[in-house]
Amino acid sequence: MALEPSNSDLPYHGLYINGAWRDAEGGRAFTVTEPATGAPLARVASASIADVDQAVAAARNAFDHGPWPHTPHYERADILHKLAKMIEERTSELAELESRDGGVPLRATTFNDIPLGLHMMHVFGELARRSPYEPLPWNEFPTLAWSFVWRQPYGVCAQIIPWNYAFCMAIWKLGPALATGNTVVFKPSSLSPLTSIALVKMIDESGLLPKGVVNLVTGPGGETGEYLVSHPLVDKVAFTGSTDVGRKIMGIAAPHIKKVTLELGGKSPSILLPDADLEKAVDGALFGMFYHAGQLCEAGTRCFVHSSLYDEVVERMVARVRQLRVGDPLELATDIGPLISFKQRDSVERYIKIGRDEGARLAIGGNRPVGELYDKGPYLEPTIFTHVNNKSRLAQEEIFGPVFSVISYDEIGEAITMANDSMYGLAGAVWSKDIQQAVEVAKRLRTGTVWINDHHVLNPHAPFGGFKESGIGREMGVAGLLEYTEPTHIHVDFQQKRSGKIWWDALLPPLDDE
Ligand code: NAP
Ligand code: MG
Repeated sequence: MALEPSNSDLPYHGLYINGAWRDAEGGRAFTVTEPATGAPLARVASASIADVDQAVAAARNAFDHGPWPHTPHYERADILHKLAKMIEERTSELAELESRDGGVPLRATTFNDIPLGLHMMHVFGELARRSPYEPLPWNEFPTLAWSFVWRQPYGVCAQIIPWNYAFCMAIWKLGPALATGNTVVFKPSSLSPLTSIALVKMIDESGLLPKGVVNLVTGPGGETGEYLVSHPLVDKVAFTGSTDVGRKIMGIAAPHIKKVTLELGGKSPSILLPDADLEKAVDGALFGMFYHAGQLCEAGTRCFVHSSLYDEVVERMVARVRQLRVGDPLELATDIGPLISFKQRDSVERYIKIGRDEGARLAIGGNRPVGELYDKGPYLEPTIFTHVNNKSRLAQEEIFGPVFSVISYDEIGEAITMANDSMYGLAGAVWSKDIQQAVEVAKRLRTGTVWINDHHVLNPHAPFGGFKESGIGREMGVAGLLEYTEPTHIHVDFQQKRSGKIWWDALLPPLDDE
């Protein structure tokens, strides 16, 4: 990355390596901007290969020689709860920062994103309190023995997050890694790094973690990120982002047999069963689609509606979308903010053209809203396509913007087949008054999460992750924590006599004294 002229009026954030803030090699830095206005928000250090080397070395040293991996789990639990308290004191500040940096409406960051991140941190504290010993059944073959599994931290973890949902993403990477005693080199997206940096500042100010346990490297994914995941001293890569980059990272991790957990793209279905309560299902499906302007991996971007309801549902959806306010994310009345970047809007607009060319019918939206405010940022109208073919690119490819595909079905089995006809398998929703029927449908969806009569509700006690090309492994919940551990089976033999040991017959000549 080229060295940009510095602007002394902007806040500047360095790299955090081995417990100290410092500049990147050669003073390299980049400017972070507000998507809504294009205004610069901060200057952020851009880590070179040498900087990443130092961050990984710090994490390696803290893991191999520091106290953190051996700190009792209940002490780590206390530390996570204390960090959560620090977050709690700064929720409104963090909500505004997240809104400015990511273009996310302030109502969402204030009432959901930041409180959810805080809640998650407490839950990781609770999970850390659970004992890392797992008893196994007594074993009698060939001699009486007691076995248990001791869960060790995995090691040095490279963690990379995308620009969307940035604060929660940072918590759900750092929380479980710290709960289980790992050390971390963490890289947020260059498009929205500021709440992650704020979190690392809180960790630093707390003085609760030994130096080198958490290290922050900011910089471009293709350079800083790629070098980080390829580093031979990294044991595990935890990546959230696009499927294409995830695929590449898996390849990079292969030569060193690094563990990877990948949280990737999605094209999640919302299925409205014939008995769905339309008062709730229409709003719920729209929330599933347009929350964060559709820039959420688990967004319900394909809506399967029973043919008996189709026209009514489309009519209701169009009427509701007319009421949504696209605008300044800092206004509490705003429902939909800008997209993260002009580049992202270009990409979404290409899909709108593809949808038209494929013969889907544009029911509403498809354009940039008009007005002075909208000229400053990458705004786009919420867009609904009807009569979409599930095989079309519109329905198969991840768009990551406010473009909804509404698809008709006649039989529930057909809806399930189409819902599963996707390279992705991250999430889904089923809308019905008949909960038993909804559960039966949920059980047949090949996805990591299914909401019944809801969407986007992330429960940090529950595993989250994808089937198929939506990823590998799980985050959150006990399953998520286990991804940050290596199990060691410890076998304690109870046979006192040498003659009773398995090796007696196999290996040793009989001894006179037995
Ligand atoms: P992205 O382009 O894949 O980037 C994600 C992160 O990886 C960023 O920090 C990026 O850094 C970095 N990166 C880019 N290229 C890299 C490389 N070659 N090696 C290592 N790191 C690299 O994704 P995005 O556009 O930021 O995010 C949107 C995507 O994330 C969507 O596909 C969405 O579905 C997915 N997502 C998945 C989940 C989930 O839980 N499954 C959650 C949220 C988002 P820079 O930004 O600094 O370049
Ligand atoms: Mg930004």
